[in-house]
Amino acid sequence: MGIDRNKTAIITGASRGIGAAIAERIAADGCNVVINYASNEAPAEALARRIEGAGGRATTARADVGDPASVARLFDSAAAAFGGIDILVNNAGIMRLAAIAESEDELFDVQVLTNLKGTFNTLREAARRLSDGGRIINLSSSVVGLSQPTYGAYAATKAGVEALTRVMAKELRGRKITVNCVAPGPTATDLFLDGKPQEVVDHLAGMAPLERLGQPDDIAATVAFLAGPDGGWINGQILRANGGII
Ligand code: NAP
Repeated sequence: MGIDRNKTAIITGASRGIGAAIAERIAADGCNVVINYASNEAPAEALARRIEGAGGRATTARADVGDPASVARLFDSAAAAFGGIDILVNNAGIMRLAAIAESEDELFDVQVLTNLKGTFNTLREAARRLSDGGRIINLSSSVVGLSQPTYGAYAATKAGVEALTRVMAKELRGRKITVNCVAPGPTATDLFLDGKPQEVVDHLAGMAPLERLGQPDDIAATVAFLAGPDGGWINGQILRANGGII
């Protein structure tokens, strides 16, 4: 079922990977989309033109989610472009892997800043500015449950995102806004594939009983369900979308 044509969604980190698939899917479902990115302007613009070419409405907005002032400007530009904001998808994220013993401070700090503080910044802005009846979907990760070695700092940021999700769902009582998490397993994007030897990719792909990597469209379909009318009764939940890996 599609999303009301007058709804507007901000998707953070939508220049590529899962975020780009979410923007394309939600736009196809009838939503105006704001394609946020950190630095990769060209693919963000190309995505916006592709969505418009398919009859949708899209705009792009450069903003660093780790910077509160930048996030405020992102919401300003979304409101200016489409008149209001109904849906926030907190998708922007980074992943740096190392055993805790070998982790530099910078590895920890940069992931906390982007994944955890970044989500906090956009949630705070959304709590103040989202229309009643809106939807918030945060991206966690199935590593919160899998707890593999080298994922410590990354998994900790995502566990924090899950905690924020549950608290925020309760704080928005009375506004008819749902707040949920989608927690993908291994998904074929730059974030997952970069720097991994093929045998590691194959091993991780084979761990799920469905025996393949997730594709960005698999995750976009899950987010679209939570953003659309059929997902309206789900609130404060963590939905793992991972082919059964955990
Ligand atoms: P990706 O392909 O690396 O794309 C990351 C996106 O985030 C890009 O659009 C990037 O923008 C943006 N971004 C990075 N830092 C940002 C910042 N400070 N401010 C604004 N945007 C920023 O990643 P992905 O695999 O699609 O991951 C999307 C989300 O899913 C992340 O939260 C990730 O943790 C989560 N996830 C992914 C997997 C997986 O296996 N892929 C599994 C579980 C969870 P630029 O292009 O401008 O750099």
